[in-house]
Amino acid sequence: MFNLILFGPPGSGKGTQSENLIKKYGLKHLSTGDLLRSEIKQGTPLGMEAKSFMDKGQLVPNEVVIGMISSAVDANPKVAGFLFDGFPRTTAQADALDKLLELKKTSISLMLALEVSEEELVKRLLKRGQTSGRSDDTNENVIRERINVYHNETSAVAEHYRKFNKVEMIEGEGSIDEIFASISKEIDAKLK
Ligand code: ADP
Repeated sequence: MFNLILFGPPGSGKGTQSENLIKKYGLKHLSTGDLLRSEIKQGTPLGMEAKSFMDKGQLVPNEVVIGMISSAVDANPKVAGFLFDGFPRTTAQADALDKLLELKKTSISLMLALEVSEEELVKRLLKRGQTSGRSDDTNENVIRERINVYHNETSAVAEHYRKFNKVEMIEGEGSIDEIFASISKEIDAKLK
């Protein structure tokens, strides 16, 4: 299996590049943000709990997202690999993911980390907020909080995978096609 983590701060382009990646490499896309928003839309208890954190720009509790990812992995036994998007976001989530994959006799193959400046992130998220219908994209304070959470809790996840030499950095500013070309280059090098 080829299991990829697409990593980076909110607004760095993970969702956009994921769309391209699943088409080219046939990976199963698992986005915790999308899964949570689908729970909210369906009005489930999990969705209701998650919404209160997401609206403030805070992380949903680890056990909630880990449970969700674990079910999604179990529900897809025959895939070529997974593309994890927005997960893991804490070192506890990374430890849980590593254990989960180990049980399936597989592991993370590569983490690609998108690098984008903070001013560009805020600009992109506010622009997305005009059309996405996502309330967490319309309030600049919530956006700044999400970026703070990224620095305080999420960036350590890259250190975790760096220890295993699994991280490659990607310049995340430029055209969508240019960035996709850099991403593809790293994946193809790893697949060889
Ligand atoms: P973005 O990357 O733009 O912040 P996401 O769709 O990935 O958007 O996440 C939206 C929100 O969902 C986050 O701010 C957070 O509240 C919640 N969330 C998503 N993934 C996780 C996760 N792995 N752990 C905890 N909370 C998460």
